[in-house]
Amino acid sequence: MKKKEDVKKCPKCGSLNVEVTRTWNLVSPLPDKAGRITITVMGVFKCKDCNYTWKGVVSKLKVGGGVEVEGKGEVLKEEETRPPKEIVLDLDEILREEDEE
Ligand SMILES: [Zn+2]
Repeated sequence: MKKKEDVKKCPKCGSLNVEVTRTWNLVSPLPDKAGRITITVMGVFKCKDCNYTWKGVVSKLKVGGGVEVEGKGEVLKEEETRPPKEIVLDLDEILREEDEE
């Protein structure tokens, strides 16, 4: 589950020494062909070297199918429809990586 590193690269000076200072979720209002909703986790990145800040995508995930049938008592395929909780874990992992550097 290793994320692409280039998302954390400073577009100005090319440094990888950047941190995520803020994140929020963008939920697509329309489902895609497979009926899935795309949730995009956006973030504000800050370069520790040149202090440049920019916005970018931290991670993306698709939730689909199962969400709407929850009320019917059907068991969802949780492997495929990742709960939003995992976003938090992802961010936590990114932040931890920053701390280690
Ligand atoms: Zn920079």
